[in-house]
Amino acid sequence: MITAKGYAAQSANQELSPWNFERRDVGPHDVQIDVLFCGVCHSDIAQINNEWFPGIFPMVPGHEIVGRVVKVGDHVKGFKVGDLAGVGTLANSCRHCAPCNDGEEVYCENGVIPTYNGLDKYLDNQPTYGGYSNTMVSDERFTVHIPENLDLPAVAPLLCAGITTYSPLKHWKVGKGHKLAVLGLGGLGHMAVKFGVALGAEVTILSSSPKKEADAKKLGAHHFVVTSDTEEIEKVKNSFDFILDTVSAQHDFDFYGSLLRLNGVHIVVGIPPQGLEIKQVFGLQLGRRSIVGSASGGLKETQEMLDFCAVHNIVSDIEIIDIKDIKTAFERMEKGDVKYRFVIDVASIQ
Ligand code: NAP
Ligand code: ZN
Ligand code: ZN
Repeated sequence: MITAKGYAAQSANQELSPWNFERRDVGPHDVQIDVLFCGVCHSDIAQINNEWFPGIFPMVPGHEIVGRVVKVGDHVKGFKVGDLAGVGTLANSCRHCAPCNDGEEVYCENGVIPTYNGLDKYLDNQPTYGGYSNTMVSDERFTVHIPENLDLPAVAPLLCAGITTYSPLKHWKVGKGHKLAVLGLGGLGHMAVKFGVALGAEVTILSSSPKKEADAKKLGAHHFVVTSDTEEIEKVKNSFDFILDTVSAQHDFDFYGSLLRLNGVHIVVGIPPQGLEIKQVFGLQLGRRSIVGSASGGLKETQEMLDFCAVHNIVSDIEIIDIKDIKTAFERMEKGDVKYRFVIDVASIQ
């Protein structure tokens, strides 16, 4: 076994603290990665706090992982020692269902294994541990190549915030001629803005935070609307082809639906713990509107997204933190106060 140093929540709702644990030895298809940076996703907070379902503890969060390969298994073909490598939200999947065969492992019909807070039933039935740790062992199928030309810490968030927003924009072919609203300007939201602009859409940020307006233009957005500003909201009624909804808290789907034009699509990627309530269906029916969901993305598409970022020079806007500041980072995220992703310098995990 390999001894790893990490930060873990020992039980639900607990602060993270140093924890040494064991990872599996490098198997024939595995790579071992010296973790350099790990992004902080709102899903980390949600899972530590058991907001979605009872978690597996101790829990080492983190699924926006970048680092360098330090060891490869005998059968590994795609990586060599010294390569930059990344791990996102997925550790394993059944590998034989239709979505797995199509490279859409996140939609595995037999249940995908998350990078942390999962039991790997396809391998050893052991808990998976994430990237708030100094070393990672990952099957090469679930590992991606990181472009060398991008700023490494700012690449980390692409592994979740990036792919989770890129994937639905590609799936629904969002691009030139479309009006895209990005609801919620946090980690996912700011990546959605960058991808929406790069794909040619006219992008509006819908935010509950007036103070984020100054950043909207910097991120490339064409318009910024504060959701509590009734006059401005009135002007964008029936106007959007798509809303990409990244909000992590409960909100009013009937209200946002009214901003979609005929045939408009409300894409839900945020995960409000309370779920989704549609109080009446007329808004959907009379505008022939849809509400759809999307998960992070498969490995093939994650690599495609990283290559797209390398060409278009897209990375996340980040604040680098030491692990000792993780509590403050969580608190600021809960308040919507992050510009726009915290990334842990994993060298600070000792
Ligand atoms: P984040 O950085 O905290 O951003 C969420 C944003 O939502 C906030 O910045 C805020 O933006 C808005 N918001 C938060 N609370 C709100 C409230 N009470 N009312 C209105 N708006 C509120 O979080 P994130 O990491 O981007 O994650 C966003 C959500 O996506 C989380 O629920 C996360 O678990 C989920 N997620 C899903 C997937 C997937 O596979 N589908 C993958 C990753 C994350 P404004 O200040 O602009 O309003
Ligand atoms: Zn995430
Ligand atoms: Zn499968």
